[in-house]
Amino acid sequence: MQQNHIDALKKIVGEDNVMTSTEDLFSYSYDATPGHAHMPDAVVTPANTNEVSQIMKLANANKIPVYPRGSGTNLSAGCVPTKGGIVLLMTRFNKIVEIDLENLVAVAEPGVIVADLNSTVAVSGLIYPPDPGTVATATLGGTVCENAGGLRGLKYGVSKHYVMGLEVVLANGDIMNTGGKNVKDVSGYDMTKLFTGSEGTLCVITKIIAKLVPAPEAKKAMMAIFNDLDDAGKAVSGIIAAKIIPATLEIMDNATIRTVEDYMKIGLPLAAQAILLIEVDGNPTVVEQEAAKVMTVLKSNNAATVQIAKDDAERDKLWAARRAALPALAKLRPTTFVEDATVPRNKVPDFLRAVSAAAQKHNVTIGTFGHAGDGNMHPTIVCDIRDAEEMKRVYLAMDEMFKTAIALGGTLSGEHGIGLGKLPWMENQHGAVSMNVMRSIKRTLDPNLILNPGKLVGEC
Ligand SMILES: Cc1cc2nc3c(=O)[nH]c(=O)nc-3n(C[C@H](O)[C@H](O)[C@H](O)COP(=O)(O)OP(=O)(O)OC[C@H]3O[C@@H](n4cnc5c(N)ncnc54)[C@H](O)[C@@H]3O)c2cc1C
Repeated sequence: MQQNHIDALKKIVGEDNVMTSTEDLFSYSYDATPGHAHMPDAVVTPANTNEVSQIMKLANANKIPVYPRGSGTNLSAGCVPTKGGIVLLMTRFNKIVEIDLENLVAVAEPGVIVADLNSTVAVSGLIYPPDPGTVATATLGGTVCENAGGLRGLKYGVSKHYVMGLEVVLANGDIMNTGGKNVKDVSGYDMTKLFTGSEGTLCVITKIIAKLVPAPEAKKAMMAIFNDLDDAGKAVSGIIAAKIIPATLEIMDNATIRTVEDYMKIGLPLAAQAILLIEVDGNPTVVEQEAAKVMTVLKSNNAATVQIAKDDAERDKLWAARRAALPALAKLRPTTFVEDATVPRNKVPDFLRAVSAAAQKHNVTIGTFGHAGDGNMHPTIVCDIRDAEEMKRVYLAMDEMFKTAIALGGTLSGEHGIGLGKLPWMENQHGAVSMNVMRSIKRTLDPNLILNPGKLVGEC
């Protein structure tokens, strides 16, 4: 980027909102994804839609790459400025514009932290359900762009189920509005859905109209230990077949159980092949009935032990093991890859076995935990990225893992998005025709290929 471009950016957003020092550029050269880093030429923090529009006009006219960024917690290298250019930091867009209690809708800027939105609507007895592990740091814009989900995705879905409308700035600087507060809206192509999950490759999101739902009145958590992986798998299908949709239905495999026990010393049985954690929520009477039914299904599928939390303190204890899964695994080695391949829920045991076999075959350490109810697994590979020989084995294991997920009828990503990390397998999942259609959408909306170039659909 030339000095006159930097000067023009300073004119648009003010001197203080353009960073060019080496230290600042280094801080925005990477995100939460291991193995990807590149220095940008400038980090720009606009304050309003008009400024974003002017930045995009300048970038488009001069073919300068632009990488939108929220809190940088994504796990797919979505914010890494691989071709230099501008990191567009959206954190000054931090206003909750409106909480509309008659329509159960929030209107908010993309830099609002998800937990802040939730604490604001909690006083009205409402929730914004997408709850990634990073709710306390991730931005609403980042979660919408990654289509993020979380622990309660089985019952409540992912971000796309809550985005009703958007204000976006296109690559050429045009400002566009999609959707709105209407519960029913079938007018035209669904551009809101197209932009949700577009990972900063099609537009910059500057405002979000989000659906809110009533907070559940009661919750009940249970934990079951299984000595046989298939029994755990049958219990998962059995709970759904009993017409119960828990808010959460989580699984930890043997490698994760052993690592968590070593980390926390809470008495988890080291030989257990799976632990299921289940939470039902809703009306208090229904919650009690559903919890009883879940207990029956767990026992009839040979759970070795089943615990039910009697109060909040016990509930916290049960969840402690699941909350510790990622930190416990991450502590083992310097580098942690958290993947999110997803399979139909009845294929979860097959997938867990395949991951474990791939780990053994390539001599790498993988612990798998995740959202068994919706089939969204988190195979977590711990390694040392500085060891080239080990990394070759890690990528071979990843290759097997993703190809197995696809062969089982699954998908590369249930909630983390594609970015750069999973790009090599996109054609395996979608085929050449779909990839061509996706790339032609990218070329139409961003003909100069300046928005997060090379990500999600690759080079166009
Ligand atoms: C420990 C850990 C646990 C996690 N747990 C979960 C989990 O449970 N579930 C889950 O789904 N994810 C999880 N994640 C991944 C991550 O937190 C989510 O993807 C989150 O949504 C990213 O939000 P962010 O604000 O950090 O976005 P960023 O990382 O800043 O950006 C994400 C993507 O969105 C684009 N973007 C950001 N803002 C805009 C905008 N305004 N306009 C256009 N594009 C934009 C960026 O270019 C990038 O491609 C986890 C990550 C970590 C590190």
